[in-house]
Amino acid sequence: MIVDKFNRVHDYLRISLTDNCDLRCFYCMPEEDYQFTPNQQLMQADEIEAIAKAYVQEGVKKIRLTGGEPLVRKDFADILRRLGKLNVEITMTTNGTRLHEFVEVIKNSGIKSLNISLDTLQKDRFILMTKRDKQEQVMRNIQLMLDNDINVKVNVVAMKGVNDEEIIDFVKWTKDTPVHIRFIEFMPFDRNKWNSDKVITLQQILDKVSTQFEIEPLSRLPHETAKKFKVPGHAGTFAVISTMSAPFCGDCNRIRLTADGKMKNCLFSQSETDILGAYRKGEDIKPLIYQNISEKKEALGGQFTIDMEKIETTALHNRTMISIGG
Ligand code: SAM
Ligand code: SF4
Repeated sequence: MIVDKFNRVHDYLRISLTDNCDLRCFYCMPEEDYQFTPNQQLMQADEIEAIAKAYVQEGVKKIRLTGGEPLVRKDFADILRRLGKLNVEITMTTNGTRLHEFVEVIKNSGIKSLNISLDTLQKDRFILMTKRDKQEQVMRNIQLMLDNDINVKVNVVAMKGVNDEEIIDFVKWTKDTPVHIRFIEFMPFDRNKWNSDKVITLQQILDKVSTQFEIEPLSRLPHETAKKFKVPGHAGTFAVISTMSAPFCGDCNRIRLTADGKMKNCLFSQSETDILGAYRKGEDIKPLIYQNISEKKEALGGQFTIDMEKIETTALHNRTMISIGG
């Protein structure tokens, strides 16, 4: 078992398949000079399978594919098929633009639930936020997944002055549609225009929703990052991922592999371990996994606290979000 010095068991691996993407969300990817990692530096399909297998042998029970955008990988179907052999729960976070090309692949893989990111219900605002005109395609693909009995969680990065006026509209959407909205507090990463004034906190979101709806809290499953709620009578639910104002590090079970095969024990960890490099040299990667987890900090990568005013973004040492894998 992959256990850290705070006795947290790590059985959930998030694998980034690429740092490439077909959208350009300003909060994720820096505008200036972003260089995508060349293919030969990325984990190849057979390497992903072998490395993931080592984690599974050490107790990983769930794998999430992410990125960048996982569906821009040309060998996505092959990767999914290989991971399917590991007999663990597989899921994915996607921006949803290409899901219509992968309906059969997803259904055959046994994936039951997807996280699909969509920060706005407005076509024009989507273009402003992502620099691409794909809002309607994403909406169609969310419906397509629901029609195929896939559970859909919709990730919405909530930002003051950007999309906060749509919080109520997202909750209204859950009235007749069984989607699970997850408002994510805006997090700071390298060159992503973060400042504390743009964060909308869990409490502020609840205050806003309660001006129009009755809110019923739902119970939290172990390790869950989302605080979940329901408007009585609605088909769907909503939740808040309160990383900034009320983090959930205490029972964190997540580890990450970047697309270039570096292990990170926290989204905000400064240090990384080169698992792919070791694997390519024929070394045993398991001692490296344990070494990395033994260095995991108690909370937020040891880089900041919930006192957001004090966060100095230039002093944070981390990658861009697109190159970590959210
Ligand atoms: N391309 C896929 C997508 O957009 O769903 C997967 C990768 S993306 C990095 C994973 C998640 O991280 C998305 O839901 C995205 O909205 C979220 N994200 C990216 N940057 C963020 C930030 N600065 N703060 C909070 N969430 C962020
Ligand atoms: Fe691409 Fe997802 Fe980042 Fe947007 S959030 S730029 S869709 S990786």
